[in-house]
Amino acid sequence: MKVVICGAGIAGLALAVRLTANGDDVVVVERAPSPRTQGYMIDFFGPGYEAAERMGLLPRLHELGYRVPRASYVDEDGRVRASLGFRRFARAINGGLVSIMRPDLELALREALRADLRFGTTVARVDNRADGVEVHLSDGTAVTADLLVGADGIHSPVREMIFGEEREFLRYLGFHTAAFTFEDAEVRAAVSGGFCLTDTIDRQMGLYALREGRVAAFTVHRTADPARPENPTATLREVYGSMGWLVPRALAKAPEDIYYDQVAQIEIPRWSSGRVVLIGDACHAVSLLAGQGASLGLAGAALLADELRQRPIAEALAAYERRWRPVVEEKQRVARSGTRWFLPDSRARLRARRVALKLARLPIVDRALATALVGKL
Ligand SMILES: Cc1cc2nc3c(=O)[nH]c(=O)nc-3n(C[C@H](O)[C@H](O)[C@H](O)COP(=O)(O)OP(=O)(O)OC[C@H]3O[C@@H](n4cnc5c(N)ncnc54)[C@H](O)[C@@H]3O)c2cc1C
Repeated sequence: MKVVICGAGIAGLALAVRLTANGDDVVVVERAPSPRTQGYMIDFFGPGYEAAERMGLLPRLHELGYRVPRASYVDEDGRVRASLGFRRFARAINGGLVSIMRPDLELALREALRADLRFGTTVARVDNRADGVEVHLSDGTAVTADLLVGADGIHSPVREMIFGEEREFLRYLGFHTAAFTFEDAEVRAAVSGGFCLTDTIDRQMGLYALREGRVAAFTVHRTADPARPENPTATLREVYGSMGWLVPRALAKAPEDIYYDQVAQIEIPRWSSGRVVLIGDACHAVSLLAGQGASLGLAGAALLADELRQRPIAEALAAYERRWRPVVEEKQRVARSGTRWFLPDSRARLRARRVALKLARLPIVDRALATALVGKL
């Protein structure tokens, strides 16, 4: 079988690895000119972790990953107001976990990849026929394939070409998020004990130490306007500029090419149409509130590859959606119901979260914390 995959992110790469292992002929096209280096820390656990284990990826993921001893909330002066140890966190989510930067997770997948991977290329036009698909690429070439897979993320252009406009499927959750990495020895030393987050209302920055003297910053803030600003770095400085602790230093080091996006979910009535199918965030973005998008993207890709190995294409696409849709819909629902834990919108809720963290001996609180923390909070 010949397959074109649009998008060399976690879902696209995972599918390519699995399909080539099945003996399929795979072309992956990625719009970025080279592997993306900006990213954020992913807590990788659940179905994706189990799929990665079956794919033999775990040793490399743990080598590239980080051991985060604890997550702490700090006030404007850097005093710890509440914290949660890594062991409790791992126990709360019942099982295997690796904290890994997104570019490193993609690196591990690329290392396992035996497919034709073309950077700086995208899908320009698609002829979706009953007997196959003609994929016209931006470099002027065309590939005749049995299947085109849109693995091109939450703003999927393949989805737009085949299924309709983004606004029909995107559910905005009321937050914007950003991430970047920078070098600063003093900041790095201050946060080397684990993941540090501001204990604040409506906006929050998290900082954590990486290897090679680097620090990763992650932000999330509430805003009614879903539109991505023209200059994300300037917006970040505006929104977070008045915060204390290490925030001004981190903002001063923010580069121009930060990761910045709205926090949203994708809900689409059908995941495939003829010889085109969607995977990962393109069809079931759960948002960072669920903290499992990468895991679900990888596991869903592995499931699709298994189905394609066992059945004719049309049946495999139907089986993939039938089996995977209920899993992601449940994660989306839970994520939506956790927004008040995710980022407090009042002093009362902020205090309630502190109390919950202090009381965190009860299993029920473990679960609430797990939900909150996996979203990097
Ligand atoms: C701040 C933050 C924290 C998160 N934390 C976690 C976490 O702790 N755990 C977890 O499991 N998940 C987490 N997630 C979610 C996770 O990152 C995503 O769900 C996951 O990356 C989705 O993978 P994907 O491959 O479907 O899409 P993406 O990672 O978006 O990859 C899509 C790829 O397609 C490429 N592309 C886009 N358009 C085109 C085009 N036209 N042509 C060719 N290529 C194209 C892109 O360049 C990219 O390489 C987090 C997300 C955010 C934003």
